[in-house]
Amino acid sequence: MRIPCSQLGFDIDGVVADTTEAFIRLAREDYSINVLLEEITDFTVEDCLPMPGEVIAEIFERLLLTPLEIDLRPTQDSMVVLREMAKVGPLTFITARPDPKPIAAWLEKHLGSESFSPARLIATGDHDGKTAHIKRLGLNYFIDDRHLTCNLLAAEPGIIPIVYSQPWNRGRHTHRSVETWAEIRELCFR
Ligand SMILES: [Mg+2]
Repeated sequence: MRIPCSQLGFDIDGVVADTTEAFIRLAREDYSINVLLEEITDFTVEDCLPMPGEVIAEIFERLLLTPLEIDLRPTQDSMVVLREMAKVGPLTFITARPDPKPIAAWLEKHLGSESFSPARLIATGDHDGKTAHIKRLGLNYFIDDRHLTCNLLAAEPGIIPIVYSQPWNRGRHTHRSVETWAEIRELCFR
């Protein structure tokens, strides 16, 4: 299967951005709470981490509102591959974040203006609200780390979800999955 770049869209957190690294770092440095990546076995972290709900909420608020200030980092190789894809056509990002502005600034900084300016960025504010946008934009493939989102997408004719493998989705789905951005690159450029 070779995927045309123009038909592929991306979730941001847990795919393009290493949101877990930032979550774990902030928990350790600012709240003295040690979390291991393997402990995050559920997308709803409240359900799998023994942490006060207020602390989780505060960290998520910082991840959403101030990604540059807290040094949210790109997933390994994501920016190199995305810049390569941006040469073929505009990139499409669809995030469940409620506000596109902070993550737009983050994307522009890390991708560079040349790749980011033509890109489409949609913030749905709703984890289950991506399908309509994916259809409207004419995408046939979408990469997301939330397997429940991928289940919804798989129910739509013409949309093939690809799960970005993470501890919270492993063994929970039967969709195609990728482990690295090198694999994503292979899907489009081999
Ligand atoms: Mg995600």
